[in-house]
Amino acid sequence: MADVRRATASSTQPLVLTLQPGRERSLQRRHPWIFSGGVARVEGAPRPGDTVLVRSADGTDLGWAAYSPESQIRARMWTFDPDETVDDDFVTARVAASAARRASLLGDGRTDSARLVFSEADGVPGLVADRYGDTVVCQLTTVGADSWREVVADALAALPGVTCVYERSDADVRDREGLDARVGLLRGHQPSPELLAHEDAHRFAVDVTGGHKTGFYLDQRDARRAVAQVAEGRRVLNVFSYTGAFSVIAAARGARSVTSVDSSGPALAVATRNGELNGVDIGELVEGDAFTVLRGLRDRAKQYDLVLLDPPKLANTERQLDKATRAYKDLNLLAVKLLAPGGTLMTWSCSGAMSMDLFQKVVAGAALDAKREVRIVGRLHQPADHPVPLAFPEAEYLKGLILTAE
Ligand code: SAH
Repeated sequence: MADVRRATASSTQPLVLTLQPGRERSLQRRHPWIFSGGVARVEGAPRPGDTVLVRSADGTDLGWAAYSPESQIRARMWTFDPDETVDDDFVTARVAASAARRASLLGDGRTDSARLVFSEADGVPGLVADRYGDTVVCQLTTVGADSWREVVADALAALPGVTCVYERSDADVRDREGLDARVGLLRGHQPSPELLAHEDAHRFAVDVTGGHKTGFYLDQRDARRAVAQVAEGRRVLNVFSYTGAFSVIAAARGARSVTSVDSSGPALAVATRNGELNGVDIGELVEGDAFTVLRGLRDRAKQYDLVLLDPPKLANTERQLDKATRAYKDLNLLAVKLLAPGGTLMTWSCSGAMSMDLFQKVVAGAALDAKREVRIVGRLHQPADHPVPLAFPEAEYLKGLILTAE
């Protein structure tokens, strides 16, 4: 049996989380989550974020986990080796190893920006760290990760070439963990107000302090390259454009016209800046609700040769899936109707609760209602710096279809 230590020296009671009978099976398959219903008892009164020894009902030690008393995911495994010690060195090594796995991506000379740590997918549940040049922007979304803030900050600051570590822990998911938002500088100098992500021939302004997520959608890197391949000569409609990354690429690749639609004025202001930074005419910017704008375009019988449809996460949970499915259907129906004969639609869902299979069915329903013959000519996924462990398929959230319509 492992040597049971407390995260604090003040108490001598061991911190042990004992599972209900049978609930060790998912852990034996190396799935890192322990749900509240799987917990038989917790000894030693751990505080939020404390490291607890996880034990099966028959008394076998299974490893160490971060305790989240307010979350339905009551604990997340740090390690499946009960003999390992979860301490500063452990967390530092996990962060460094994860960053090292991105070395080949960042070393290919095509980009200076990548996700260095992707939470459970990289063995650091609750930590997302995105690198933009010399700046790392991190998000701590669980109380387990939150309790290692200083160690994580040091580990990220110690990575070669990193001069600034900034925290953007203002994601809604922190509520579920009983955590308040935290935003601010953790290490080094303030991030440059004109921080850029360099990718292929392009430069994108990263709105670190006010933008979505950590400021830029790194997860659409493969999609940006897909857009670059097909944009030439097309009339492009970029719906849910955010800061216009797809629009910049389409314009740079010789699109005939580009229209970007987003409900966020500040995001569109950055899109304008991105046009300037890349020396292209960003085209028409439409601030408004995408559903309303698309209906307006349909009513005016507008036609486009390339429509990009990248909505925000419409389903946060399985329970929201029904409503979200209707919204995805409506959006895709409108998008298909706007396609000129032979036009291309790239359409995404970033809702983890929606599988590729279901998404494809929803889009098929939309094509049917639009009375158009639509073919899948490609699929898009989250890129290599957002990996999906075989033992943790929940890490997969982003899926896209490349479609052509007759
Ligand atoms: N395609 C973008 C990322 C899109 S993120 C990129 O590659 O960078 C989703 C975007 O949808 C956000 O910019 C958000 O402001 C916008 N959005 C959310 N709800 C909207 C709505 N109802 N109508 C229009 N835009 C919306």
